[in-house]
Amino acid sequence: MKIPILILIATVCLGGCKPKDEEMDILIKNGMVYDGLNKDPQLVSIAIKEDTIAYIGNQDEVKFSAKTIIDATGLIVAPGFIDPHTHADRDLKNSKESHNKPFLYQGITTVVVGNDGSSPYPISKYANLYREHGIGTNVVFLVGQGTIREQVIGKVDRQPNHDELERMKALLQQEMQSGAFGMSTGLFYAPGSYATTEEIIELGKVVATFHGIYDTHLRDEGTYSIGLATSVKEAIEIGKESGMSVHISHIKCLGKKVWKQSDSIIQIIDNAIKSGLEVTASQYPYLASATGLQAAVVPRWAESGGKDSLFIRYEDANQRSWILDETQQNIELRGGPEKLLIVNAGQKDFVGKTIKELSESMGLPPNETVFEVLKKGYARVASFSMDPYDVENFMKQEWVVTASDGNTGHPRKYGTFPRKYKYYVKGGAIKLADFINRSSSKTAQIFRIKKRGSLVLGNYADIIIFDPETFGDKADYEDAFQLSEGLKFSIINGKMTIDNGTFTENLNGRILKKNDYENKSQF
Ligand SMILES: [Zn+2]
Repeated sequence: MKIPILILIATVCLGGCKPKDEEMDILIKNGMVYDGLNKDPQLVSIAIKEDTIAYIGNQDEVKFSAKTIIDATGLIVAPGFIDPHTHADRDLKNSKESHNKPFLYQGITTVVVGNDGSSPYPISKYANLYREHGIGTNVVFLVGQGTIREQVIGKVDRQPNHDELERMKALLQQEMQSGAFGMSTGLFYAPGSYATTEEIIELGKVVATFHGIYDTHLRDEGTYSIGLATSVKEAIEIGKESGMSVHISHIKCLGKKVWKQSDSIIQIIDNAIKSGLEVTASQYPYLASATGLQAAVVPRWAESGGKDSLFIRYEDANQRSWILDETQQNIELRGGPEKLLIVNAGQKDFVGKTIKELSESMGLPPNETVFEVLKKGYARVASFSMDPYDVENFMKQEWVVTASDGNTGHPRKYGTFPRKYKYYVKGGAIKLADFINRSSSKTAQIFRIKKRGSLVLGNYADIIIFDPETFGDKADYEDAFQLSEGLKFSIINGKMTIDNGTFTENLNGRILKKNDYENKSQF
């Protein structure tokens, strides 16, 4: 069967894939085209018919007409970016936010949701909801191990018995059948942190039968529990024993004690790759991480059972002193109370202040201040806990792709991809072709997303066009909600989403399902 197909392709493409005499929907000409795969850009034209790239080729051979012609002179044409780690599910489920503009304006055309062990559950329900009200970008689902665990045994700190583990596997199977591309864990967070390595391996075997990936927020990115290096080794072991490929989310050296350890972490991963395992990572280009204040500094054992249980323990005089001691240690690991900036909180006037500032105004020590803030509701912090050396070192690895980890309050939700271009490509740390490759086709390859991520004949037409002079982020810690600038066009599934810098209000995103590919036996 293979030879006739090859001959057919060769016949069709002889003479540079000359277009037939038909009207195309969109023609992009005069742009510098990075196809996501090749290092060298080309000055070629791209034509789109319906949702597909119908022609790529020489400018002077373009003889067909098109309903819309984009003159991309002086602009860069690239595959739409794929963001492998977001919390956009919180926006997509809301019909007023499902346009996904913070991501769209970065050039992102596909977001992955369900990271960090926490996923919209069940996927089928959310897929229907998204379909009903429409979504601005494509979406890829992961199934969260924490979510599955919570369904079966709640938020408690204990091990599942045999039957419970079997139930978890069955739920995982159900979610994979609903189209998930893999399983995520948040082993740093409760309840994921209560799971042993063996539990994840057992669950992973189910995911591996679907050729799904393992996406993990490591158990420890610093020195909280088992340490960064041991956590990376744990992820590799899980991949090796279960058969899943390993993708480490937002790789970093978190906290002063592990700064400059990126070289040894890279060595561990390179060795695993050399041994035949597929290990990759994602990263956002900021020196501050962001997470829930409770997750950042409160000890895990104290939260077992949920927030109510935490405060019952906190009110108990004996346990209170333990909780406060460990909270204080965790604050120090994060670099001190002045390094923890509240970016979102139940009480709005906490926002924009550090724990140090709040502790001074409340007249309480920093650890007690944390609990006063938490009593007023959920709070998120930006934690200035990374060193520029490690950020650039990871970024240069060919197995590290761009991810926003977009979440309310941190500028990365609005700025990640353009920021990486503005500071790290223009600054010379990485090449433009590598930036594009590792924001599109490499990511598609890691997540096994077919027919997207590269500008290839027959692929879905997810294409962005940006101005190399002005493409950049505007969001910062003062105002994290500013859309990025410099993106001229975004075409998603062949339809115009951003037209000459303006959002068309059309929701052109689709729900991508892994099993759609399975059915067509592409694996
Ligand atoms: Zn995470």
